[in-house]
Amino acid sequence: MNIHENIERVREHIAAACARAGRDPDSVTLVAVSKTHPVESVLLAAEAGVQHFGENRVEEAQSKIPAAGLRTAHSLTWRMIGHLQSRKVKDALALFQTIDSVDSVRLAEKLSRAAAETGSTLDILLEVNVSGEASKYGFQATGWRTETAVREPLFQAIQAIAQLPGLQVRGLMTMAPIVDDMEQTRPVFAELAALRAAAAEALGLPLPDLSMGMTDDYPVAIEEGATLIRVGRAIFGERVTNN
Ligand SMILES: *Cc1c(COP(=O)(O)O)cnc(C)c1O
Repeated sequence: MNIHENIERVREHIAAACARAGRDPDSVTLVAVSKTHPVESVLLAAEAGVQHFGENRVEEAQSKIPAAGLRTAHSLTWRMIGHLQSRKVKDALALFQTIDSVDSVRLAEKLSRAAAETGSTLDILLEVNVSGEASKYGFQATGWRTETAVREPLFQAIQAIAQLPGLQVRGLMTMAPIVDDMEQTRPVFAELAALRAAAAEALGLPLPDLSMGMTDDYPVAIEEGATLIRVGRAIFGERVTNN
């Protein structure tokens, strides 16, 4: 397993997916998901030109992010991609440049207050559940096209969060269900892209980013408009711990 070669291969697949979709490869940001992997792996990926890294637990990030910072001259962007508990908001703000998994208005309000205290603006993504899987975090969006009872509260939540001081809502994020064939995830990604466009139009917000696609399905996500893909195993290999 060679992290440098793995990244080269992922970049080739990104370029191929962009070519199929008529997109500029620079419009897709690779987020290397380093959860469960050591600082050494992060440093190798940084040497290979990766700038964005994703972690899903504050505790793990508390040791990894400062350690990586001490050992590289590259400026890395750390993205929180897992469910964030309210009581860990301050710790998370000290570590991450963006929170890509904001899944409630309450959490957004806490982040807003904490960001305001430091006088900074925090980029966030709103995690949306478009597949309807009960196990998933995120704002409920199943049926948003046809059901006003889903769409209105969802759009109200997005608007309320967009008005909070100290936060910049950059777009939407989703986790697709785990399936055997990556083509099965296409409708989920298409649905998130359509929701992003509809919310941007209805609320007059730019919402430029769509974070979707992981190791098993990122080419399809790119074809459907992903601007951020979150790739762990294809870069760092299988995870040992169950996380
Ligand atoms: C672990 C994780 C990923 C990466 O998954 P891989 O299948 O290893 O690419 C992406 N997004 C989130 C939110 C994750 O927790």
